[in-house]
Amino acid sequence: MAYKITAACISCKRCLSVCPTGAVKILDGNHSIDSELCTNCAGGIYTVPQCKAVCPTVDGCVKEPSDYWEGWFVKYNRVIAKLTNKQDYWECWYNTYSQKFSEQLQKNHVVV
Ligand code: SF4
Ligand code: SF4
Repeated sequence: MAYKITAACISCKRCLSVCPTGAVKILDGNHSIDSELCTNCAGGIYTVPQCKAVCPTVDGCVKEPSDYWEGWFVKYNRVIAKLTNKQDYWECWYNTYSQKFSEQLQKNHVVV
């Protein structure tokens, strides 16, 4: 899935000059990414998407989710990161509860 530019964009134009495929465009004064041209910066010399790497905002340039649940997690990860100031809140939550669940199963001698 391609990257996209959101309403958080402040039009600094940095992504325009760094995109290796020319996917970033300015249409009617607004920056946007042509999903046909965006390669996610994969397969070349870059290890990270250049538009996201240079963007001075937190979420002005984000990856388009490929399905509903990916979109859900992207959205609520950003919300929870703002509320808790932790980028890995859900990962920690999952690790903690999966470990506790596993311990509980072992205590009850349940084989999984
Ligand atoms: S991810 Fe890479 S190819 Fe896609 S718009 Fe951003 S800089 Fe361009
Ligand atoms: S780098 Fe970020 S803030 Fe600047 S024009 Fe691109 S998306 Fe907008």
